[in-house]
Amino acid sequence: MGALDGRTALVTGASRGIGRAVALRLAADGALVAVHFGTDAAAAERTVAAITAAGGHAFPLRAELGVPGDAAALAAALWAAFDAGLAAMDVPAGVDVIVNNAGIGRSGDIREVTPAEFDRLLAVNVQAPFFIVQQALGRLRDGGRIINISSGVTRIATPEIIAYAMTKGALDVFSLALAKELGQRGITVNSVNPGIIDTDVNAAWLGGSEQVRAQAAALSVFGRVGEPRDVADVVAFVASPDSRW
Ligand code: NAP
Repeated sequence: MGALDGRTALVTGASRGIGRAVALRLAADGALVAVHFGTDAAAAERTVAAITAAGGHAFPLRAELGVPGDAAALAAALWAAFDAGLAAMDVPAGVDVIVNNAGIGRSGDIREVTPAEFDRLLAVNVQAPFFIVQQALGRLRDGGRIINISSGVTRIATPEIIAYAMTKGALDVFSLALAKELGQRGITVNSVNPGIIDTDVNAAWLGGSEQVRAQAAALSVFGRVGEPRDVADVVAFVASPDSRW
């Protein structure tokens, strides 16, 4: 028996990086996983194939975030797919776990960020998670889980990526307020705030030189850059019944 047997999960941005690792882990724990992606259908298919090969259940779900109507479009596609998949699996209609992971990052410092870049960061990193949850609330089952992938930059000053950091601060406040709103239904809301993780978004600068990588590793008490799996294991805990209180 897996901790998430009979449950359903939406993981946004699950085609690559942290989201992919989260999708793999939640599926391994027994959830039927909607592998959301924006543009990279081939990568999403690879995530689904890896889950299926391991004996899990998943399907790809495309929706561009950060554009008008994004959350409604995602929800419509999700319910249609879940209904079909759930019926086949004899699982009650509804969603149990929402992982708001899709995000864009690395703005410049306060002198460099343009209004358009600022708007885009807010639209993808803050507005989309907010309205995805709003769309999902009616079908989020009691005892459900909402997990927002924030960042350690809400705790460590990073003026060189100030606008990105601000979006993650907003996500943390979202988690806090929503947790109070939904606690009575046994629904938990958590932010997970990783440090530097080895994903595509960091590939250019982490791969720049051994010295840069060593500097990034030194920022962690563990002396290494994190792997997507390191985050997925934490998400798995806050997605599980063990994190009920
Ligand atoms: P990544 O490797 O760049 O992957 C991003 C994922 O999000 C992809 O699946 C991508 O899908 C999707 N996505 C991005 N923009 C989208 C959009 N506009 N519409 C729909 N989907 C979109 O990112 P990552 O490094 O794994 O980061 C995942 C999350 O962790 C982000 O919220 C990030 O801020 C946070 N985080 C990352 C780190 C780190 O060091 N990597 C540290 C702390 C927090 P497509 O490729 O299909 O577009």
